[in-house]
Amino acid sequence: MAKFSRYLILLLLSACSPVNENSNSFANWMKQDDKIRVLTTTAIVQDLVEKIGGDEVKVISIIGKNQDPHSYEIVKGDGEKFAFADLVFANGLMLEHSGSMQYQLKHHENVCFLGDELFKKVPDEIITVNEQLDPHIWMDVSLWSKCIEIVLEKLSEKDPGHKEVYKKNAEEAKKEYALVDSEIKAKMDEIPLDKRYLVTSHDAFNYFVRRYFSPKDELENNFWRVRMQALQGLAPDEQISVLQIKEIVDHICKYDIEVIFPESNLSKDSLEKVKEACERRGRKIRLAKSTLYGDTLGGKSYLDMMVYDAKVLEDNL
Ligand SMILES: [Zn+2]
Repeated sequence: MAKFSRYLILLLLSACSPVNENSNSFANWMKQDDKIRVLTTTAIVQDLVEKIGGDEVKVISIIGKNQDPHSYEIVKGDGEKFAFADLVFANGLMLEHSGSMQYQLKHHENVCFLGDELFKKVPDEIITVNEQLDPHIWMDVSLWSKCIEIVLEKLSEKDPGHKEVYKKNAEEAKKEYALVDSEIKAKMDEIPLDKRYLVTSHDAFNYFVRRYFSPKDELENNFWRVRMQALQGLAPDEQISVLQIKEIVDHICKYDIEVIFPESNLSKDSLEKVKEACERRGRKIRLAKSTLYGDTLGGKSYLDMMVYDAKVLEDNL
């Protein structure tokens, strides 16, 4: 975009924007200075880029803190953000699968799809569900930590003058991630193995369960997959069928599951239906009072969200 039109838009923005937290941060992001403008699709990716970029980069996220990333469609104003971004980070692995989002991502000259880069580095660690790659890679802190190197490489390439700062931030982030990863592992190890079953609204917790619920032998015999069942698949945008409810109720009865977990950004209605179906079969089950964060941070930092989820599981299982 020509410098002149950028300047005009900046003028218009400063004249018309209402004063609130979001417009302030967007206005700051648009301000002309020597910092690079980074756009991320989700708040989870934003949290990671901010950790490594520190004070040297300005980062905003397209998808709001409680919005579903799978189905998010581009709205008025998002196109401008893409136009002004020096660098874009997306989760990738088709998490952001709406047509309008894919269009923007495919037409920006500098987009990094973290999950796809991760898949090139460690293909065996990416989970496949019904022949689709599972995009919820942040749910295993040790795996998400491997994206630090990818972000570091991209930021250093775009802004070599601050390479050393990014490197230092990345080293600190790796240590912090490793600490939280081992804390969650230790916490989940305290839950009896026969209680470590997770039933949720959609299939967001496969990485969590593989990393934190399952002993080594289950990684080889694939039993860890049984520990995670959801009503809906990798994306929560399909209609729930009677058969899906029956299958999940069968699973609950077979493994003596006592509690099911709603997710913060999804309706509890479908899980209420599961509860009713269980009761009709004479099986008592409860919905956890606290919701899990699967696809959103709800205003928390990424690591706080992971620790929070672990606490909800520890308190309820
Ligand atoms: Zn999801």
